[in-house]
Amino acid sequence: MYSYRGRYLVIDLTTRTAEVAELGHSLLKDYLGGVGLGTRLLYERCPEGTDPLDPGNPLIFASSSLTGTMSPASAAHAVVTKSPLTGLLGDSLSFGNWSLSLKSAGYDALVITGRSDTPVYLWIDDDYVHFRQADGLWGKGASETSKSIRSQAGDGRVQVAAIGPGGENLVRYACISNDGYRQAGRTGCGAVMGSKRLKAIAIRGTQPVSVFDGDEMRRTCAGLYSRSQAARKQNFRGLGTPYNVMLLNRIAALPTWNFQEGAFPGAEDVSGEKLADTCLARVVACPTCPLGCEHLYSASHRDRDNSNIETALDYGSLSALGPMCGINDISTILKAALLCHSHGIDTISTGNAIAWAMESFQKGILDRNDTDGVDLAFGNGEALLQMIDLIGRRAGLGSLLAEGVMRAATVTGRDSDQWAMHTKGLELPGYDPRTMKTQALALAVGLRGGYYNRSSSYELDMVHILDRMESQTGWGKLNMEQEDLAAIFDSLITCKAMRDSFTNFLPEAAGLYTVATGIEMSAGDLRLAGERINNLKKVFNIKHGWKKADDWLPPRLLQDPVTFRESQSVVLSPEVLRALIEDYYTARGWTSEGLVPVTKMRELGMADILEEGNS
Ligand code: SF4
Repeated sequence: MYSYRGRYLVIDLTTRTAEVAELGHSLLKDYLGGVGLGTRLLYERCPEGTDPLDPGNPLIFASSSLTGTMSPASAAHAVVTKSPLTGLLGDSLSFGNWSLSLKSAGYDALVITGRSDTPVYLWIDDDYVHFRQADGLWGKGASETSKSIRSQAGDGRVQVAAIGPGGENLVRYACISNDGYRQAGRTGCGAVMGSKRLKAIAIRGTQPVSVFDGDEMRRTCAGLYSRSQAARKQNFRGLGTPYNVMLLNRIAALPTWNFQEGAFPGAEDVSGEKLADTCLARVVACPTCPLGCEHLYSASHRDRDNSNIETALDYGSLSALGPMCGINDISTILKAALLCHSHGIDTISTGNAIAWAMESFQKGILDRNDTDGVDLAFGNGEALLQMIDLIGRRAGLGSLLAEGVMRAATVTGRDSDQWAMHTKGLELPGYDPRTMKTQALALAVGLRGGYYNRSSSYELDMVHILDRMESQTGWGKLNMEQEDLAAIFDSLITCKAMRDSFTNFLPEAAGLYTVATGIEMSAGDLRLAGERINNLKKVFNIKHGWKKADDWLPPRLLQDPVTFRESQSVVLSPEVLRALIEDYYTARGWTSEGLVPVTKMRELGMADILEEGNS
């Protein structure tokens, strides 16, 4: 096979065994790789009713058709598992050298099941798989774990993905880190890894990836590299994703004080411009990426204890740990991000959970008896840092917040679910859907819960392709198309930041796939693959307990208006949201109950799982 390896590794931590399984052309063409391949393997291997933290829940790392080739921004892998936050499909992407190692070790995927009786780490050296004791690493941060394993190996080719204490302590939004600063962050895959007592996966891969048509691959990629340098990318390169702070603040879509407002009075103090002026240490790029969005910041000049801080901070982390918690001090936000990375917990869910606790404190639902005496007021930076530490250690109030806002509100009661900002259990990202109506639909029906980039519909709102204040018929189809495109990006895998570098994405990406793999792919085949992947996600969710009521938004977003330009009140009504969802189900060809009909599954070539269809 070209580019693909045609096989994956199945590891059982209970029996400490490993075996290789084959992957055929047709399955690879149908599900592409990355999130698509991971979803397919999860569907086959995760029985109905499996608890996400039980040994039977597979933890899947999936490479893709383009990883390891020269295709720009393709050094990536997907992590797919049943999410401990949502109980539904969980998927997350990460980029870096570890992704390349997985492919060069000779595998398109790793499927890990079981639970070790003592902490272990996996040592994968091409065809050799070893189970090594990790007692001495348990309790350490992911970065420290990686350094320790790499220095012991004494070989720079060894790459490590690891969990921190948050994963060991089963924080439901723990992540898996690789390359020191990259994370598969959302939906809690780190907790699943911790539940298996698997501290790390170290890989030394030495087998080069060959492509079907090297000359054509070079020509195609040269065009993409060249177009990626266009002027409109300058802000992205210069400021990174924190560029979005002022943009979203202007349109009242910057969630503030736990979504109580959509604009933050301290926005300028935490803007991308401010960060670039005062704290930027260096800009780094994932392997093969011509864009380099990853900005590392230092806050040493403002740090009270004078210690040096250098950390990655993207818009999602910044908005959750900043305006959501009312924090307008950059140094505190950088420390908070660093602390999350060191505990190995997702910054967005962490910030969101603390914002929920701050509002509960504001309303008198939680008091100092619940917070160990901490004044958990919005804007209190010390309180933010204390809470992050408690969450990572699952101590005090941190143990409740480690469950995520949906469960924390259920346990706390007293109407605190009214300000628990999640869909399907996944904490919402930093885009207020009241002033971004396409995004409202995307968050409500999101197949892994509320997140912005599994549809990229927020782009339609932000670039004014649509009137973001008013919903219209046809948005269901637009959101479906955006979701299917996102599934293609996440499965090929190519970073979505490259989307503007394609002139006509479907035929160009299909061509790229063909020259890499030698497998014929047309634009229509590729579009169908995106649709198939999303339908399979939906079928998985239905099998694992999804209900129509799960496709909805938190009460606050449908009851409370948000202020736009100091005087205009903007609302999102339940009627509007319901109409958008119906429009979306119709566009998808699903029933009015949101189920996938047998005819749709046949149309998408999913006959092999028809017996488990749902309507
Ligand atoms: S745009 Fe950013 S996240 Fe995407 S591949 Fe490049 S550096 Fe990595």
